Amino acid sequence: MRLVLLGPPGAGKGTQAAILSEKLGVPHISTGDLFRANIGEGTPLGVEAKSYIDAGKLVPTDVTARMVESRLAEDDAANGFLLDGFPRTVEQADILTELLEKKGTALDGVLNFNIDEDVVVQRMLARGRADDNEETIRTRLQVYRDETKPLIDHYGDQIISIDAEGEVEEVNQRAMDKLGK
Ligand code: ADP
Repeated sequence: MRLVLLGPPGAGKGTQAAILSEKLGVPHISTGDLFRANIGEGTPLGVEAKSYIDAGKLVPTDVTARMVESRLAEDDAANGFLLDGFPRTVEQADILTELLEKKGTALDGVLNFNIDEDVVVQRMLARGRADDNEETIRTRLQVYRDETKPLIDHYGDQIISIDAEGEVEEVNQRAMDKLGK
């Protein structure tokens, strides 16, 4: 299955993606994780991405898209993937569509994790990642509203809506049910 995971920061996409990846047998590809790995290793990509991430802003699309394209070219993604954190803008969605068209494939669906903003702020503050301070969280939520939320309309009837409030296992079951698994 080729799926995109959408939802505000802190919706639990990464947690759900890890479980779904196991159950569906396709790799979890998280742009946030890829950036953090690059930052950890001090690669040029990591150095470039860090200032944007620390400010809660989007890393420029050309850099991000190149990283995603090379990850999707790896063998394990040939028959499916769970894309978490990409696309985050309509521009990125168009790039992804083209990239998949070149391979003669397309998405099977877009899981949208619905959750209240107050809940995500609490979750992020509790998580305490380097970019999880109050100011950065506010910026990321604004970026989400302005740039990412329009993807819900963009994907239209490809959207599979999941209620993301509740226990991890419960949310996962809702996703599996909606996927017919
Ligand atoms: P969260 O889901 O909590 O926002 P992520 O780990 O997905 O966290 O992303 C962390 C940061 O990485 C984002 O705030 C952004 O700076 C950067 N990032 C991740 N994906 C993208 C993307 N598709 N385009 C641009 N920047 C991105």
